[in-house]
Amino acid sequence: MSGAARHEPRALIVQKYGGTSVGSIERIQEVARRVANAAAESRVIVVVSAMSGETDRLLGLARALSPEPIARETDVVIASGEQVTAALLSIALAERGVAAQSFLGHQIRIRTDSAYGRARIQSIDGERLHRVLDEGKVAVVAGFQGVDAEDSITTLGRGGSDTTAVAIAAAADADACEIYTDVEGVYTADPRVCPGAQKLERISFDEMLELASLGAKVLQIRSVELAKRYGVRVHVRSSFNQCEGTCVVPEETSMEEVTVAGVACDRDQAKIKLSRVPDRPGLAAKLFSPIARAGIVVDMIIQNVGEDGTTDMTFTVPKLEVKRALDLVRATGREVGAGAVESAGDIAKVSIVGLGMRSHAGVAAQIFEALAREGINIQMISTSEIKVSVVIDAKYAELAVRVLHDALVNPAGEARV
Ligand code: ASP
Ligand code: MG
Repeated sequence: MSGAARHEPRALIVQKYGGTSVGSIERIQEVARRVANAAAESRVIVVVSAMSGETDRLLGLARALSPEPIARETDVVIASGEQVTAALLSIALAERGVAAQSFLGHQIRIRTDSAYGRARIQSIDGERLHRVLDEGKVAVVAGFQGVDAEDSITTLGRGGSDTTAVAIAAAADADACEIYTDVEGVYTADPRVCPGAQKLERISFDEMLELASLGAKVLQIRSVELAKRYGVRVHVRSSFNQCEGTCVVPEETSMEEVTVAGVACDRDQAKIKLSRVPDRPGLAAKLFSPIARAGIVVDMIIQNVGEDGTTDMTFTVPKLEVKRALDLVRATGREVGAGAVESAGDIAKVSIVGLGMRSHAGVAAQIFEALAREGINIQMISTSEIKVSVVIDAKYAELAVRVLHDALVNPAGEARV
């Protein structure tokens, strides 16, 4: 570049490397090579996950001692995985002649609330990072962890290093936030299930939020919420090659031209049905308030039209919460004199997401036709402005994803790629 450009402050980039990207000593050396290249051009903050499998191993140790280990101490145990990688990467960088310094969450004051295991970031001291960068060093931050008002270590929930990276990019006012992982980006469907799936060049925050919550596990959902709130453009890409990945960005007008961005599948929900609920005001509140108070997130709800003064209520909750939810539903059912309670875990929720659905009519009808052609029965339906979801029998999940992808994403060759 010209002489003038040399006096511009160097760009600041945040790079986050996930567990498989730092899963072995060789991988850490490879990441050091990549970081060194980036550091030759820009100021760099790196955020790292624990080595792959490490968080599960650490959780296993705590659970070997107690079926429900104390939440505060569990966080101290599982936060240690990221501590190891941050320091190992700093050592590997030094071996390449790149000055680097590791930071744990508390050392850059990543303040969180005290919800151990799923804490939310409240603030970060970007100044501390800038001081290290000004010394010409790479800052290597342990992802997934923070510290609460009592200075206890907290963790941000599984996949939380993504959120650390986005929060740091926002706090330090970075020019770019790159999330390095073991897939090449965000696809129009899971490529393992759907051979026709294509990598998206761009996707909006809102579409990504829907896809992230629907089981496309590329980014932790909170990281996308934060990115949207602070306008952080996130580039998801592979650490195993040089390919361009997918940019998660604010909405652009041209995005509406493409009706469907992707098809996602969520197998982690279970269905609960309470029959013969008296059909009168206040009953839904009676049923769902205790579930909400228990912190159980209800997803789809269907209430059938009552005929004889009663109605059926069917809804979905995360599979992991189904036992607790059933206890609450049974108690309410007895109290209000409702009928039987049933549950089923062998369901899948398949969803079609796209900003263009706002302006393109008939997407829902196309979905139902495509499923009907394969004889797949739809158990529940829900829609939002940019999404249609159907609950079907789990054994047809993969078929449904392929069929819907072929019917809605591929035909016009209009995927946003
Ligand atoms: N190591 C943590 C996990 O496995 C956080 C992360 O990798 O993002 O969930
Ligand atoms: Mg991850």
